Order: sequence, then C-alpha cells, then structure tokens
Amino acid sequence: MVSRVIPVDPFDLVIFGGTGDLARRKILPGLFRRFVAGQMPPEAQVVGAARSEMDDAGYRDFVREAIVEFAGPLSDDGTQVDGFLERVSYVAIDAKGEAGWDALRTKMRGDLVHAFYFSVAPALFGDIAERLHLHGLAGDESRIVVEKPFGKDLDSAKALNATLAEHFHEHQIYRIDHYLGKETVQNLMAVRFGNVLFEPLWNAQYVDHIQITVAETVGVGGRGSYYDQSGAMRDMVQNHLMQLLCLIAMEPPAKFEPDAVRDEKLKVIRALEPVEPHHIVRGQYDKTVDSVGYREDVENPRSFTESFLALKLHISNWRWAGTPFYLRTGKKLRARTSEIVVVFKDAPHSIFGADAGRHRNVLAIRLQPNEGMTLDVTIKEPGPGGMRLVDVPLDMTFADALGPEAEQATEAYERLIMDVIRGNQTLFMRGDEVEAAWAWTDPIIAGWTARSDVPKPYEQGGTGPEDSLMLMHRDGRRWRELKT
Ligand code: NAD
Repeated sequence: MVSRVIPVDPFDLVIFGGTGDLARRKILPGLFRRFVAGQMPPEAQVVGAARSEMDDAGYRDFVREAIVEFAGPLSDDGTQVDGFLERVSYVAIDAKGEAGWDALRTKMRGDLVHAFYFSVAPALFGDIAERLHLHGLAGDESRIVVEKPFGKDLDSAKALNATLAEHFHEHQIYRIDHYLGKETVQNLMAVRFGNVLFEPLWNAQYVDHIQITVAETVGVGGRGSYYDQSGAMRDMVQNHLMQLLCLIAMEPPAKFEPDAVRDEKLKVIRALEPVEPHHIVRGQYDKTVDSVGYREDVENPRSFTESFLALKLHISNWRWAGTPFYLRTGKKLRARTSEIVVVFKDAPHSIFGADAGRHRNVLAIRLQPNEGMTLDVTIKEPGPGGMRLVDVPLDMTFADALGPEAEQATEAYERLIMDVIRGNQTLFMRGDEVEAAWAWTDPIIAGWTARSDVPKPYEQGGTGPEDSLMLMHRDGRRWRELKT
C-alpha cells in the first residue's frame, strides 16, 4: 500500500507552553514525524514560546531530546533530526506580561498560515488570546488550538468561549480532543457511511445495545491534585466518550464537512435523556498490599471523586429510542483498552431450535490496542455431528489487513495539527458542542453531589466495582471482556 502525503501550505506554528510535557511528548515528536513524511514544506517554521529563559540552541537541544525519546525509530536518522531542528526556534514569553511579544511578532512572516497552539493551563488562554490581538497576530490567517480541559462546567466553558470569541471567530478556534484524531475514529465514519452493509441495521430495530469502554491500567500518576478536582466524568466522559458516542449515534451528515458533521454530533448531545441515579456507578480504586489506593494517590483521605464511572444512557430520537448505550471508563483496570461494541439483536427466529443456543452479531471497533475491527458472525462448527453453531470473528486488525504502514499510522496529534494548518475543523469540537456536553453533564454531577454519593471501592487490576457488572446484569446483558 502506498501512502499519499499531501504537503500542507507553508506555516508559522507557535507552541505556547513549548517546554511543557504535552509539547515534549506529543506535539514536537508529532511534527517531526510529519516532517520526515514530507508533509512539512521547506518554509514551515515551529516556534517554541514559554516562560523559561532559553536561546534557540538550548531549545533545539530540548526538542532533540523529545524526538529521541518519543518519536520512535524515525529519530535514528540524525540528518532528518537536524533538518527538522533547522526550522525550530524559541521565544521566551510571558503570557501575562509584555516580555517576548515583540520578538514573537517579528518572527511571524507575511500572510502565511499562523497557528498558535495553546499548550498551557486554561487560565492563560484569555491572556494569550488578548495579547495576540494586541500585537496584531489575530488576523484572518491566524488559528488557535486549545487543549482540554475546556471548562469544568457549563458556566466556565461559556466564559472560556466568550473570552476566545472576543478576539477570534469560531472558524479560527480549534478545540482539540485527540480521540477524534485516531485512525479508528475516522474509520468509524468510513465504515458507517462508506458501506451499504451497516447503515440499514444501525438503529433501535436491529441494535440491542452499544457499549463504549475506555479503560486504563495506570492510576492518576502525577496529576493527582488536578484529577481530584475533575474525576472520570469531567476528565473522560464529558469529552472523549461523549465524542465517540456522537460519532456512533449521529445521523449521516449530508457531506463530510466540518459544520455538517458537527451539526449532527450536536443533535445527539441535545437528544440525550437525563440519566437516572440508579444508572450511574462511581468507583475509586482501593489500596493493595503493594500499591496505594486512589485517596492516597491524590493525597485526599476524604475524596469523593470517581476514578471509575459507568453509565447507562438513552438517546431520545427515532433512530435510538429504546436502545441503551452503556459507557464505562476507569483507572487501574485490568487492561488498557478503548473500544466501541455494537451488539445486534438476535435473529427473529431460530430455525436450528433451542439447542443451537443464542448467537448474536457483535461489531467491535478497537481504538487501542491494535486498532481495528472485528465482526462476530455465526457459522456452523466444522465437522460431523449435526448443526452446531459457533460465533467466529471476521478480524480486521488494520496492521494485518493493510500492511506495516498502518502500524506506523499517523498519530492523533500529528494528524490534527496538519488539519489545523489545512484549515479543516471536522475533527475539532465546536463551542456549542462543548457547551451542550456540559449542559448534560452538570446536572448529573449536581445530582450525586446533592445525594452525597460515595464512590464504591474497587480492586486494582479488575473491571471496576461490582455494581458496574450489575448495571448490565439487571438488563440481561454483560460487558464485553476487558482483555489484557
Ligand atoms: P506543563 O505544566 O508541563 O507545561 C506548561 C507550559 O506552560 C510550560 O512550557 C511553561 O513554561 C508554560 N507557561 C506557564 N506559565 C506561563 C506564562 N505565564 N507564560 C508563558 N508560558 C507559561 O503542562 P502540560 O502538561 O504540557 O499541559 C499543557 C496543557 O495541555 C494543559 O492545559 C493541560 O491540561 C493540557 N493537556 C496536557 C496533556 C498531557 O499529556 N500533558 C494532555 C491533554 C491536555
């Protein structure tokens, strides 16, 4: 398979927070990979902008180390690394003061695309947006990329949107959710809308239920104090799981164009029914003999924040009336897995009799690990002995089906940054989508706060609290196994 790399237009990309963790692990290595792929035109430049005093040479050393550590085998080619570093420079800048802004302005060239990546704490978004404006850098050729968290509730999200809107139009604002940059997530749209096979069955008449799981094996790590203010609902469900839900449930957009897609996603969020309290399961990972529990990890012995959340949802529209969606996400679980599972209904009548057992088609879309899809199909078990039925997966692991190139598929961040340069907002969240998601989330959080709900402890390395299994069992269903 030959990959097609279409170079983007020349650009100036400024990374505010260019010395931070996200820049080091994702943004800079991602840009390097696009450079090696030939997507970056010779005139493109990357400017790190952060508080630390540093010169260009010092920053290039920082970038080189980031590439060696995080860009994979491509960084073995020293010529490529040097070639990329030639386009990199640095400005020491204060988001809250005047230092560095004149130097930044002199670096920006003519009417090239200007992209400003806000890889800093959200508290600085307003200051940076305002200073870009004051220094004449908020013109039509400018785009800004903002990282999550995008607010912590509806009011703060509205305030943030309003602040950015003072200086930038919505078509210049790219709210990044890296889940949307994953290959499989886009494939979800290709599968649904590029094939005739699935769409006629994609509704309450044929789908029994849908599961969305994003499971992590790690705990809160060094993010304890941030995470404890947030929890699984704000950190994962309101954004990543909600976006996956939208893509799986939305109506076919008329075109694969930014606002056509985002209009349909918004309709899904607005059609979500309020969630019944007994359809919510919250948990906190417990301590073990050799590992601390959630409360020790966040250094808050009285924390009621959830590190696990499972929910049963309903979407009130014609397509999905009566079909439940089960969402779960958590830390310190058995496997690192992100997957969407569409479980179809039983065949209306079994000609093979009761002895043949119950068989269902299940489409599992894996975001990680091993991006790909499987479709369980019922067939006859080979051999003599009558008509015994068995479910076998039609397996389409992308790396197997499409060759080694799929294995080195573009990572989410690099794809999304190139989309910013191209001016394509399809895979970015619009302001009204973010607000609608908070409008749905806020009453749920308010409900469990008012009830003084205490998260259930759960065993590390398992599948979450027992109640999460019960959420399914009560309905005669079960979660798909969390495979290691
Ligand atoms: P970080 O603390 O590692 O880096 C912060 C950066 O901001 C540093 O470069 C610092 O110099 C710069 N900075 C701080 N104050 C400044 C000021 N007044 N003026 C100019 N620069 C200033 O943070 P991070 O982990 O890189 O995260 C950045 C943003 O990305 C945050 O909003 C975070 O929530 C979000 N995010 C991070 C990750 C991740 O994996 N690290 C993932 C998703 C979202």
